[in-house]
Amino acid sequence: MKIGFIGLGHMGSHMAANLIKAGHEVTVFDLNTEAMNKLGEQGATLAISIGAAARGSEIVVTMLPAAAHVRSVLTAEDGVLSNLAQGATVIDSSTIDPQTIRELAKAGELLGVSVVDAPVSGGTGGAQAGTLTFMVGSTQEQYDRITPVLKGMGKNIVHCGGVGTGQVAKICNNLVLGITMAGTAEAMALGAKLGIDPHVLGSIMNTSTGRSWSSEVCNPYPGVVSTAPASREYSGGFGADLMLKDLGLATDAAKSVKQPAFMGALAQQLYQALSTQGRGGLDFSAVVKLYDCA
Ligand code: NAD
Repeated sequence: MKIGFIGLGHMGSHMAANLIKAGHEVTVFDLNTEAMNKLGEQGATLAISIGAAARGSEIVVTMLPAAAHVRSVLTAEDGVLSNLAQGATVIDSSTIDPQTIRELAKAGELLGVSVVDAPVSGGTGGAQAGTLTFMVGSTQEQYDRITPVLKGMGKNIVHCGGVGTGQVAKICNNLVLGITMAGTAEAMALGAKLGIDPHVLGSIMNTSTGRSWSSEVCNPYPGVVSTAPASREYSGGFGADLMLKDLGLATDAAKSVKQPAFMGALAQQLYQALSTQGRGGLDFSAVVKLYDCA
C-alpha cells in the first residue's frame, strides 16, 4: 500500500520503519532532515513537503507532538487534506484531545477523506518492536480498512468506538497511570521513612491490594525493581513531561464536559512541580523525588 508518514520522532521513526518492513511503499516527511535521512537509509522515499508526502498516498499516518501540530499538518494550504484523493484515510496516532480529532474528521468528510484517531501505548520499546497497542476511534468500516496497516506497527488493535474515542481511551488510561504512580511513590517514600525495607514493602504491595503496574513493573523507589527506570537513575521509560501533557489533556477534557477531575488535577500539579525542578525529561516515576527520598 502507498503510505505517507509525517512525524519521525522517538515513536514515528520506528513505526515508519516497521511499515517499510511490512512491505508498504512509505513516503516520509519531518521538519528534521536528519530523521528523514535515517528513514531514507531504511528504504523510505523522502518527500520535500507535507503535501508531497500526502499526494498519491492511500493512507497518511501522523505522529506529531500535540494537537496544534496535527491541525496545521492536516489543514495547511499545502497540507495533508488538500492533497489526498477522495477515499483516502488519515490515521492520527499522536496523543491529542478528542475534540480536535473530531473537528478534523468533519473537515476531512467534506473532502471525501476519512480522518480517524489511533493513539498508541507501549512507548518507544513497543514502537521499535512493532508491539504497540492502537486505540482506534472510527467507524467499523474504517477500522476494518486500516487494521491490516496498523498490524504492521502493533500487536493489539482495539476498536474503541466512533472518532475521538481512541483519544478518550488513551487519556483515561494515562489519567489512572499518573495517579497510581504518584500514590505508589507517596506510599513507598512514607514506608521507607517509617523504617521498612523498600524491597519488603514493594513485595507486600505486589501481593496485596496496593498492587498496580506502577508498583510491580515500574516501582518508583530505586532498586526495588531492577529493570525499572528508578534503578537506572530514571532514564528511559515515559518522560514526566509527556505525563504532564497527558494529564493536561485529561483535565481539559473533564472541563469540557463539566466533570470534576480531583485526582487528575492534583497529579498534574505534582508532575508540574517535577518539571519545574528541571526533571521533566526523567521517567515519570521520578515523581518520588518530590518526597526527598531518592
Ligand atoms: P517527538 O517529539 O519525538 O516527535 C515528533 C516529531 O514530529 C519530530 O520529529 C518533529 O520534528 C516532527 N514534527 C513536528 N512538527 C512537524 C511538522 N509541522 N511537520 C513535520 N514534522 C513535524 O514525539 P514522540 O515521542 O515521537 O511522540 C509523538 C506523539 O506520540 C505525541 O503526541 C506523544 O504524546 C505520543 N506518544 C509518545 C510516547 C513516547 O513514549 N514517546 C508514547 C505514546 C504516545
